Amino acid sequence: MRKKTRLIHGGAGVDKTVGAMSPPIYQVSTFKQEGVGNFSYEYARTGNPTREALENLIADLEGGKRGFAFASGMAAISAVMDLFQTGDHIVVTDDVYGGTYRYMTKILNRRNIDVTFVDTSNLDEVKESIRPETKAIYIETPTNPLLKVSDIAALAAIAKASDLLFIVDNTFNTPYWQTPIELGANIVIHSATKYLGGHSDVVAGLVVVDDEELGEDIHFIQNGSGGVLAPHDSWLLMRGIRTLGVRMEEIESNTGKIVEYLVNHPQVGKVYYPGLPEHPNHDVHAKQSGGFGGMLSFTVASEKKALDVLNNVKYFTLAESLGAVESLISLPAKMTHASIPRERRLELGIEDGLIRVSVGLEDVEDLLEDLEQALK
Ligand SMILES: *Cc1c(COP(=O)(O)O)cnc(C)c1O
Repeated sequence: MRKKTRLIHGGAGVDKTVGAMSPPIYQVSTFKQEGVGNFSYEYARTGNPTREALENLIADLEGGKRGFAFASGMAAISAVMDLFQTGDHIVVTDDVYGGTYRYMTKILNRRNIDVTFVDTSNLDEVKESIRPETKAIYIETPTNPLLKVSDIAALAAIAKASDLLFIVDNTFNTPYWQTPIELGANIVIHSATKYLGGHSDVVAGLVVVDDEELGEDIHFIQNGSGGVLAPHDSWLLMRGIRTLGVRMEEIESNTGKIVEYLVNHPQVGKVYYPGLPEHPNHDVHAKQSGGFGGMLSFTVASEKKALDVLNNVKYFTLAESLGAVESLISLPAKMTHASIPRERRLELGIEDGLIRVSVGLEDVEDLLEDLEQALK
C-alpha cells in the first residue's frame, strides 16, 4: 500500500461483525468472560477494541510492531520515560517541546534520571554527551519554533553503536512524511492532538515501538499506570487520520507559498523553514522526509511589530497548539517560551519579534492577503 491508501485501509480494516465502515465505539469498561481465564478482552484499561483499532493503525503507519494510545502526548512521553530508572541518563534535543522540557527537568529528575540537553543536529555533541550510564537518545525533528533538523539515520547509528534506545517525537512531520522506525528509531512518539487529530477537537498521544519485547514492556506500563485514551477519542483520532494525506499535501502547498511570500517581504527578517535551501539542514531533512511540513517561524523588527501583526490578522488564530485545519499564529517569547529567561531565550535564537505559524487549510490567497494587511 502507498501512503494515502494505508491511511484509509491500514490497521484492522472494516469491522468484522456487521461490516461498519467506521469502527464501532466500544464505550465499555469490562467484558463478559466465557469462563475463568477465557476471554479476548477483560478490562478496558488493559485493552479496548476501539483503542486497539487505532493502536494497530498507527503501528501500521509508522512501520512498527505495536502501537499504544494515551490520554495526551505528555502521557505518552511519560509512559516511555517509565522504561528508565534511577541512575539512568538520557541525551535529549535542546529545544524540545516545552512540556517535554518541563517533564524532564521537574518530574523525571525526582527519580534521579539525569538528562543532558544538546543540539542533536550536531552529531559530535551527541557523541560527546554519551556516558556509561546513558540509556537513550531522545529527539524531535524538526523542532519548535526554530525548525532545527536532526539526522535520524545518523543518530540511529550512534545509538546502536552504544546500545541505546533511540526515541523520536514525530509530531511535526507525521508518518505521512517521515517514518523514523524505518530509519532505525526504536520508539516513535506523537502528540496526536496536532496533525493526526487535525481538527482541534481531541487531546491524545501515541507510541509505536519497533520490537515485540519493547511492546510488552510499554503495554505493561500503559496498563499499569493507566493513562489510556478513551474509546470516543480513539475513534475521533482514526477519523482524523483518514484524511491526513490530503491535509498534509495541501498544508505543504500553502506553506511553500507563504514561505516564499515572507522571504521576499521587506519587513520580514529571518524565515525559519526546512524547505528553504539556505536552511542549515535542508539536505538532511529532504533525505529523511517526504515533505517540509506546515510549521514556520519568521522575525519582524520588534516585539511591538510582532504584536501588531498578531492583533491584526483575521484568519490566523492566536492560539497555542498546531497542526489543525485552522491556521494558528503565536509569539513564542510571550507564550510557549515565556518561562525561559530572556537572556537564555535570545541565546537559543528565540527573538522578541519571532512569530510562529502553523499553516492550515484556508485558501492560501486569503492567508497571503491577511499577512499582507497585518504586516502593513
Ligand atoms: C504538543 C506536543 C507534545 C505534547 O502533547 P500533548 O498532546 O499536548 O500532551 C509533545 N511533543 C510535541 C512536539 C508537541 O508539539
